[in-house]
Amino acid sequence: MPAKPDAIVNALTDWFARHARDLPWRRTLDPYAIWVSEIMLQQTQVKTVIPYWERWMRELPDAGALAKAPPERVLKLWEGLGYYTRARNLQKAAQAVVERHGGRFPDTFDEVLELPGIGRYTAGAICSIAFNQPTPILDGNVIRVLARLFAIEDNPRERAVNDRLWNLAEALVQTAQKTGWPETHACSVLNQALMELGALVCTPKNPACDACPVSRLCAARRRGIQESLPNLDQRAETTARHFATFLIQRDGRWLAQQRPAGVVNAHLWEFPNVESAHIPNDPCALAKAQWNITLAAADPMGTIKHSITRYRITQHVFRAQWPARSRLDPAGRWLTPGELDSLAFTSAHRKIARKFLR
Ligand code: SF4
Repeated sequence: MPAKPDAIVNALTDWFARHARDLPWRRTLDPYAIWVSEIMLQQTQVKTVIPYWERWMRELPDAGALAKAPPERVLKLWEGLGYYTRARNLQKAAQAVVERHGGRFPDTFDEVLELPGIGRYTAGAICSIAFNQPTPILDGNVIRVLARLFAIEDNPRERAVNDRLWNLAEALVQTAQKTGWPETHACSVLNQALMELGALVCTPKNPACDACPVSRLCAARRRGIQESLPNLDQRAETTARHFATFLIQRDGRWLAQQRPAGVVNAHLWEFPNVESAHIPNDPCALAKAQWNITLAAADPMGTIKHSITRYRITQHVFRAQWPARSRLDPAGRWLTPGELDSLAFTSAHRKIARKFLR
């Protein structure tokens, strides 16, 4: 362990006690509530998560309630947060909590880690925050803070560097346990302080070093290299993709289809769509080729843009009438506006419904 772990721990925990945001999941030691917040916070900003977490906890207040909830309900509560596998894994893990642990959330790191969808970071966060155990955490925020504090110039995505960062995180939380400040929650406070510092002060661009509680101890700042750390290699180049998406109407209802099992966004609903190699300029031909339906016309409504991993996706939205004399029975359901609201749609298609069906 490099120099001054006690000084780092003391400065961080003291700062956290005075500057931590008052977030709803910080007012509880319930491991279920903390777990839900940690999963929601992956890839999503705090201010977005707060209303989702509050609604979820009202409707599914414990693992037993989540385990037996209809999957459609779970997806609907998650709608808009994206990465729907996380919601499905939450329910699978809740069912495992009921089956393996009689509904009581396990309190050992190994048992928590065995639950579906829970990796080393999440298990460490739950055990340290709910049970004050000296389990380390390492997410993007903590990687940035530690890489700067200890001036680690190698790429954190490399195995050896990542191992070193985990070791540093572990040494700090173990130091917190030994120093015992504040007496009953030292591990919880230290880990949350690392996350909070990364979120509020040691930000990716323009870190607020002048306001940082560990600035005197920070090796990167001393050398003036904080802005260049962590040294992450360049992300893969982005790829543009185009989809023609059809709002097809029949008798005041709209055609929607449920995505099959085993694909991205499985079981969520969406409007009929087809990928096009270019900006689609003949949507009727695409519909004919994809579903063998002959649309009289497809009126362009506009576009919605969104990203999935490295793909920059443009949905080109067209409005059409179902051919009156068609004998085809399309896969999917004809939904009323009320049904459209109540089913769980993918984020992009929910945006399409909001923008073009209001
Ligand atoms: Fe980050 Fe600056 Fe604090 Fe170092 S001094 S930990 S770079 S905010």
